[in-house]
Amino acid sequence: MQLTERINRIQISPTSAVLAEAEKLKSRGVDVADFGPGEPDFPTPEHIKKAAVKAIEENKTKYTPTGGIMPLREAIVAWHKRELGSSYEPKQCVVNVGGKHSIFNAICALVQAGDEVIVPAPYWVSYPDIVKYAGGTPVFVEATPESGFAVKAADIEKAITSKTKMVIIDSPSNPTGGVVDPQEFARILALCRKHKIWLMGDECYSHFTYAPHQPFSIASVAAPDDHVIIIGSMSKTFAMTGWRVGYTLGPQALIEASVKMQSQSTSNPASIAQYAALAAMTGPMDSVPLMLAEYAKRRTRIVEGLRAIAGITCEWPGGAFYAFPNISAHLANGSTHQALAKNSTELTKLLLDRAQVAVVPGEAFGAPGYLRLSYATSLERIDEGLRRLGRFFARAEAA
Ligand code: PMP
Repeated sequence: MQLTERINRIQISPTSAVLAEAEKLKSRGVDVADFGPGEPDFPTPEHIKKAAVKAIEENKTKYTPTGGIMPLREAIVAWHKRELGSSYEPKQCVVNVGGKHSIFNAICALVQAGDEVIVPAPYWVSYPDIVKYAGGTPVFVEATPESGFAVKAADIEKAITSKTKMVIIDSPSNPTGGVVDPQEFARILALCRKHKIWLMGDECYSHFTYAPHQPFSIASVAAPDDHVIIIGSMSKTFAMTGWRVGYTLGPQALIEASVKMQSQSTSNPASIAQYAALAAMTGPMDSVPLMLAEYAKRRTRIVEGLRAIAGITCEWPGGAFYAFPNISAHLANGSTHQALAKNSTELTKLLLDRAQVAVVPGEAFGAPGYLRLSYATSLERIDEGLRRLGRFFARAEAA
C-alpha cells in the first residue's frame, strides 16, 4: 500500500512492540516476569472513579468545549499553582487526550520543516518521532550516567544553532529517571531566553521524585513572557493512564493553536474522563505519597539486585519508576564479559525466550548499551525477575 511520506517518517512506538511480544507469551499461559509496563500498577483512587460514575449518571456524556470544561481548566491551573508554584490563568490551559497528545499538538503548532528540536538522550521514545512528523529534526544531547542522566545546560548550549526551535526536558525522565536540579533547569531556561527558543517542560512524572529531589516546575521561575510550554498528565500521578487526560499550559496563542488542532481531530477529551480529572485536581492527594513510598522500596530492591549481577552497572534513578542498567559488558562490543548478544534488542529477545523476563531494549531510547526495567510491579515479582536474570547471566558466564 502506498502510504504518505509523512506517515513513513515515523515508526510504531518500540515500547508497544516489546510489550506486545510479552503479552503474546502471557496469553499462551507462560509466566513472564514483566518489567515492561510504563504505568503505575495501582488502581485509580476511589474518589476519582466515583466522580466518573456520577458524571455518567448525571448524563454528562455529551460534547464539551473542545479545550475542556472550564471547571477543569480552572482546577488544573489552581492545582499547578498549589503543587508546583506556577501562575497561569485558565485561558492559558487546554485539556488534551493524554500528555502525549499535548506534546503532539504543541510540537505540530511550533515546529516545521527546517527546525531543530534539542532532545536529551536517552530520550522518551515519542519525542523524536513527533518532531519528525511535524517536519523537524531531533538533535540529541547526551545526558550521562555520571551526572545521574540529568542533562547539562552547557551541553545543550553546544547543540544550539540558528535552526533550533525548541528544547524538551522531561524531569524526571523516562527511561533514565534522571532529575534536572532546579538551578540547572533555570540555566537551561536562561539559554532558551537568550536564543529565543521554546522550552518544553514535560512534567508527566513530576510527583514521582525520591528524596532529596522534590517535584519542580520550570514555570515556577519563568517570567510571563518566557517561551515556556508545560505538559502535564493525570496518567502517572493519579494512576489514570487509560482515562487519557493531559494538559498544556503556556502562552494563550499556543493554547488556542492546540485547541484548533483538536477541534479538527479528536474534539474534546472524553467528557467522563474530564469529570474524573476534575476530582483528581480538587480532591485528596493521599494516594500519591503512599504510591511513592512503595516505589521507593522497589527502587532499592531492583537497583541493588541488578548491581549484584556481574557485568551490570546501574545508577539510582532520582525519579519515575524505571531502572536503567548498563549491560554493554555483555554485548558484542563490550570487553569484560561473555558476549551474549549483538545489541540490546537481541539481548531482550533472548531474555524473553530463555528467562521469560520482559524488558525494553535501550535502542528504543537511543541508548544501545542499556535496558529499561519498570518497577511498577510488586516486590515479589521484582524478586522473581531478579532471580531469573541472575540465573540467565550466571549461566552465560559459565558457558
Ligand atoms: N511523557 C513521558 C516522558 C512519558 O513517559 C509519557 C508516557 N509514558 C508521556 C509523556 C505521556 O503519557 P500520557 O499520554 O499517558 O499522559
